[in-house]
Amino acid sequence: MAKITRSVSAKKSRVPFVPKKVAKKAAKALPSLAKKSAKPKSLKPKPWTPAEVHEAFSRFRKASPEPKGELEHLNPYTLLVAVVLSAQATDAGVNKATRALFAVADTPSKMIALGEEKVREYIKTIGLYRNKARNVIALSEKLIAEFGGEVPRTRAEIETLPGAGRKTANVVLNMAFGEHTMAVDTHVFRVGNRTGLAPGNTPLEVELGLEKVIPSEFMLHAHHWLILHGRYTCLARKPRCEVCLINDLCRWPEKTV
Ligand code: SF4
Repeated sequence: MAKITRSVSAKKSRVPFVPKKVAKKAAKALPSLAKKSAKPKSLKPKPWTPAEVHEAFSRFRKASPEPKGELEHLNPYTLLVAVVLSAQATDAGVNKATRALFAVADTPSKMIALGEEKVREYIKTIGLYRNKARNVIALSEKLIAEFGGEVPRTRAEIETLPGAGRKTANVVLNMAFGEHTMAVDTHVFRVGNRTGLAPGNTPLEVELGLEKVIPSEFMLHAHHWLILHGRYTCLARKPRCEVCLINDLCRWPEKTV
């Protein structure tokens, strides 16, 4: 009975008959085979040479000598507020709300006079607006209480403001005060990793990597060049590699050119 069952299941599964001796030999050979195939393949792209980085940013500069951020603002304070409001929102969406808001409140004291409830009304089309309205009022109060109503000029100080983190501080320092900071948003993070320019698991790793490889002469605008590159060319789902300025330098194995 047992014999019959074995032969039927072997037939069904079409497993070829292997003599015991041969099977033993193969099993002995397996560990060495496994060792060979387990050799780790390096997935790291070849780092860019300084000449390649210089070439890439020279091309960005030639194509757009004075790149501008897309968040509308009137002064460092309104830039700070706009960046705080832009968390998990599009620049276009923020601009739509802030045009009217900044027309009536472009300083911390005017914002406080307007009050949280009214600020909420102005920005209610932006995600997380309740929390953001609270932060805008709280940061305005802190600016008046601790910084003479001015936006401070150091990252550490900006980071103490409600709703402002490292990315906010880097944007403000770069756009308002011309510092060579690198704010890493979702676009810069993707471009830094995909191209192999500055691979990293966290925004901070990518930020520090970019700061290390980008020559100082490009740092003032590098943040905008990379954001715009990610937003309009190196798109998340379908990068437009065929029109990409740096497609010959990019290390992404899946690039389409
Ligand atoms: S070649 Fe493609 S993947 Fe590489 S940077 Fe350009 S658009 Fe992005």
